Amino acid sequence: MCGIVGYCGYRSAAEVLLSGLKRLEYRGYDSAGIGLGDGKSLDVYKTKGKIKDLREHVPQEASGIIGIGHTRWATHGGVTDINAHPHMDTDKKIAVVHNGIIENYMPLKEMLIGEGYKFISETDSEVLIHLISKFYTGDLEKAVKEALMLVKGTYGIIAFHKDNPDQLVGARNGSPLVLGIGEDEMFLASDVSALVAYTKRVVYFEDHEVVTISKTDYSTSNIDNEAINKEVENISWELEEMEKGGYDFFMLKEIHEQSQSVPRAYQGRIDEEMATAKLGGLNMTSRELLDVERVKIVAAGTSYHAGLVAALQMESMARIPCSVELASEFRYRNPVVEKNTLYFALSQSGETIDTLYAMREIQRKGGRCLGVCNVVGSTIPRESDGGVYLHSGPEIAVASTKAFTSQITALYLFTLNMARMRDLSTEGGLRFIKALKELPIQLEKALGDSEHIQALAKKYAKYPHFLFLGRGINYPVALEGALKLKEVSYIHAEGYSAAEIKHGPIALINEETPSLFLVADDHLKEKVISNMKEIKARDGMVIAVAVEGDKEVAGIADDVIYVPRVDPAFNPFVMSIPLQLFSYYCAIELGRDVDQPRNLAKSVTVE
Ligand code: GLU
Repeated sequence: MCGIVGYCGYRSAAEVLLSGLKRLEYRGYDSAGIGLGDGKSLDVYKTKGKIKDLREHVPQEASGIIGIGHTRWATHGGVTDINAHPHMDTDKKIAVVHNGIIENYMPLKEMLIGEGYKFISETDSEVLIHLISKFYTGDLEKAVKEALMLVKGTYGIIAFHKDNPDQLVGARNGSPLVLGIGEDEMFLASDVSALVAYTKRVVYFEDHEVVTISKTDYSTSNIDNEAINKEVENISWELEEMEKGGYDFFMLKEIHEQSQSVPRAYQGRIDEEMATAKLGGLNMTSRELLDVERVKIVAAGTSYHAGLVAALQMESMARIPCSVELASEFRYRNPVVEKNTLYFALSQSGETIDTLYAMREIQRKGGRCLGVCNVVGSTIPRESDGGVYLHSGPEIAVASTKAFTSQITALYLFTLNMARMRDLSTEGGLRFIKALKELPIQLEKALGDSEHIQALAKKYAKYPHFLFLGRGINYPVALEGALKLKEVSYIHAEGYSAAEIKHGPIALINEETPSLFLVADDHLKEKVISNMKEIKARDGMVIAVAVEGDKEVAGIADDVIYVPRVDPAFNPFVMSIPLQLFSYYCAIELGRDVDQPRNLAKSVTVE
């Protein structure tokens, strides 16, 4: 969600900032801007719209060796050129970009207006620039710290002063910030994707930390002015991983990557001899794992659905009660944090603020919370008590696909480990591992049906409503299928347990509302088939995702998508592939902006 970049070095700042913002586009935004300095002038260019629109506003000859850039996802004030960042002080000497929300901006604004400061935007962020300017007496870092002392809320900010073309000051609280260290150049950004083209050496910041950079140096401290030492880390992602690699959209690329990203989540983590999984990052002894009586997962969006799948498997295979809760709700309901409950925070980006805050609430109450995240070095893994990285590679499309299957994989490994410590035999463990290792081939097969799915999307994209229906472990897959279709095609879709439709949703069935059924070959199959017949009896259209060779389903449904036969626990993997492809092709059919759907953001860093 939204992004910031800062540059101080020898290249054209405009070019570095625009290309950095382009890489941050995936986070979701509605307007953008840059501010450039060269020691003589401070020029700000900003506009609503996309980075390509911003490019048109920046003159070719724009000079500047220092600068800041911003993609805004409006929270306070409409999507207008004036509300776009950077914001400048009245004398146009200092510029600031801000990600996040200043919660107490109203009293601060009133105070500043009372002191004669003039506000020109509707944003909460503008209080920051006036506060910095109020406290500025020649030392920008000091002024920034003093300003931030008064602020309540979340921020990732970067500021610079016109008279000093060799200094940027950045700070974070809640919104991410990373420093990139180059040769005679330094970068600041919301995440490493904006830096990876220039450097692999980075420093991640914690809340309330401040960094001041010049071309050749940087210093780190906290808002209370204590110097702090930060570790320099290396980015493992390659630039090529952030390119579309011949695909039209990142979403399609990432869907197709799943036959590689799923094995990357389990490779090196399987112990065949003991028929179990080894997850070193959990930071828990066997005794501690044995003491776990309950597991609770907190998550949001697609991660929530991945959690639901894994919870069902964990409970049935490891015999540990496991539940999943929306992180946003968990955090605000004064939850009981039990001693022998192990908590998981699931988030692709590792920055999802609802999930991060839920984790902090768990930890504050003395609970142990593990992170399951993709982005290395992000906030949740750094603050968690341990966890598992997905190693899916960058997920750039706003709608999550490969992270979904990798999250289930990671939690399945944990499940296997817990099951083997309890009831599961060596033989049972080996069977599970074998099924897991067969997945890449099965996923490839499922991906091979994309032309057929594209043809179905052509046929069905015109319908305004969809129901996605599944049961058992495929019920959360139906929820995820509906979410995916909504996200990228804007078609209204609802996911339900197939058993639930007779309790209400069946009233929606008419010639405009097709139902997409997930029909696994498991103990619930006959029940699901009855539900399908109930829809057909009411002249509803049915698309079924069924196991290859299933003639019975083909005889009932209007259209069938076949997926390979797998162990029932692994149906969510092969069944989610056609749902992702269906959403993608419906979106294409309707001409949607697949990778950056309207109103959505990737890394949801506001509450
Ligand atoms: N709250 C600020 C605004 O609405 C910043 C939003 C963002 O993080 O992009 O302008």
